[in-house]
Amino acid sequence: MRRAVCPGSFDPVTNGHIDIVQRASALFDEVVVAVGVNKSKNRLFSAEERIEMLREACAGFDNVRVDGFSGLLTDFCTENGIQAIVKGLRAVSDFDYELQMAQMNASLTDVETVFVPTSPEYSFLASSLVKEVAMFGGDVSALVPAFVHRALTERLAERATAEG
Ligand code: ADP
Repeated sequence: MRRAVCPGSFDPVTNGHIDIVQRASALFDEVVVAVGVNKSKNRLFSAEERIEMLREACAGFDNVRVDGFSGLLTDFCTENGIQAIVKGLRAVSDFDYELQMAQMNASLTDVETVFVPTSPEYSFLASSLVKEVAMFGGDVSALVPAFVHRALTERLAERATAEG
């Protein structure tokens, strides 16, 4: 059984993430989408919300499951019998850090990193940018699933109300 992990914070999941998960699911017998649940003040959505959104987004992929993880990704890989980490590469700017991370992870345990080039239509897409654009009223409806767009709009409105 060839098993891969697609790790990330997914705050929230975008069409760029889904594209990578779908392509990974065609390459591996099983794909685990691992949502980092480490506490961070900068998250818009809780770990449970991010996991729930990914489950909905990945519901159509038979060999994909969604799980939370904390601590070292390499430990998660060992515990779950995962041989490969799949990362999407958007631009050259992603490469330096991702290469360093891949080499570090390989030195920690026997895990391979597989880079998948982003589809051109998503190469500018990052959760952080989606949140920023949405916060200022920009239309991000083509960049995330419809149910994520609704959740994002609601959450940002709640935030705006709370901050007066
Ligand atoms: P981001 O805020 O950049 O979306 P995440 O930590 O949620 O960050 O992303 C998890 C992983 O998903 C990234 O390391 C990257 O491999 C991949 N990814 C994110 N956005 C895209 C995209 N638009 N195209 C391809 N891969 C992506």
